[in-house]
Amino acid sequence: MGKLLIIGCGGVASVAIHKCCQNSEVFEEICIASRTKSKCDALQEKLQGTTSTRITTAQIDADNVPALIALIEEVKPDAVLNLALPYQDLHIMDACLATKVHYIDTANYEPEDTAKFEYKWQWAYRKQYEEAGITALLGSGFDPGVTSVFSAYALKHYFDEINYIDILDCNGGDHGYPFATNFNPEINIREVSAKGSYWEDGHWVETEPMDIKRVYNFPQVGEKDMYLLHHEEIESLALNIPGIKRIRFFMTFGQSYLTHLKCLENVGMTSIEPILYEGKEIVPLQFLKAVLPDPASLGPRTKGKTNIGCIFTGKKDGKEKTIYIYNVCDHEACYKEVGSQAVAYTTGVPAMIGAMMVLQGIWQKPGVYNMEEFDPDPFMDALNKWGLPWVVEEHPELVD
Ligand code: NDP
Repeated sequence: MGKLLIIGCGGVASVAIHKCCQNSEVFEEICIASRTKSKCDALQEKLQGTTSTRITTAQIDADNVPALIALIEEVKPDAVLNLALPYQDLHIMDACLATKVHYIDTANYEPEDTAKFEYKWQWAYRKQYEEAGITALLGSGFDPGVTSVFSAYALKHYFDEINYIDILDCNGGDHGYPFATNFNPEINIREVSAKGSYWEDGHWVETEPMDIKRVYNFPQVGEKDMYLLHHEEIESLALNIPGIKRIRFFMTFGQSYLTHLKCLENVGMTSIEPILYEGKEIVPLQFLKAVLPDPASLGPRTKGKTNIGCIFTGKKDGKEKTIYIYNVCDHEACYKEVGSQAVAYTTGVPAMIGAMMVLQGIWQKPGVYNMEEFDPDPFMDALNKWGLPWVVEEHPELVD
């Protein structure tokens, strides 16, 4: 069917690439291009011979737009799947625009020098993408991504109006390290050390980091502490779900993680302000990333399950109702299948599905779109087929 250029070859990309190779009918050819080409070559070597997808590799610095344009012109993909870091989003969008190729990513743009992510920079490309006749699909991971599709699905099939959404992201896995992050440490720590916020009655309510704590009994995982965070899908869902009154996002953290994080913060290790060290400028958080375990190395050690989903409360035929849509994913099963833990798996699978939706023309519309703006049904079917089956539970436990 088509050819995909994948940029980045880290934890999430590795899963997405395994999944593309399981889906050769759609992904006849993929090119894996990243900063460190040896990682792309290693994956190519591992997968070649197990798939009929043709795999090529390339070296690219995705911050170099002319080089990106040259690569896209050489590879001639039908779409580009951006699985590098949020800092690269705009550069890759620029290159896609110049070459008129569809664009898909999993995380919204964040300037490297301010730990603040917002859609405004990417939404600013709407008109140009419309005029170029190409689609940009933003946030095709799990959260954002699947949580956004769950919201569109709930609205389409279960409600006349959704008033409250609580997005719950639970990682009940244990990797045995006192402190490690499940995806890129720099991005992860920037996210969790930022102020929290939620959407209520048409505006943002800001909280101190980790200020709001709840305990929730997650199906198949058990009782966990969870904390309110700012999260990117809240911004687009607030615009795209009519009648919405409140959206909150909670993520679970264990006590050991929080104690280590507090300590690292207190000594200045999570700062993104450059400092001079032996005559060289370094960013403390980037140095911390270098000494922490590589998330990709957690795969063989992690046991337990993730449970990520959304609790929706709204009205149907004049009556109030609540449903909970979630997916449970087992770390060890993911490792057995693709050699990665469940956090990378739950992001990499929807990244492949988003690319498939665009490549097949099922989700194609010139412009820049968030996931909940397309028909959720084909994506929901694909989740069941490609390893992330979901459950709809009526009358779930609520979060107060
Ligand atoms: P990793 O750090 O494991 O991988 C990032 C990859 O991007 C690496 O291969 C890295 O290359 C490459 N890269 C970084 N900068 C450049 C550049 N300038 N040019 C080319 N390649 C570059 O990150 P993850 O796989 O954990 O995360 C990938 C993305 O997924 C992130 O944007 C993250 O925010 C997002 N994500 C989204 C989630 C969701 O649910 N929506 C959940 C989890 C993550 P090198 O090997 O040289 O370092």
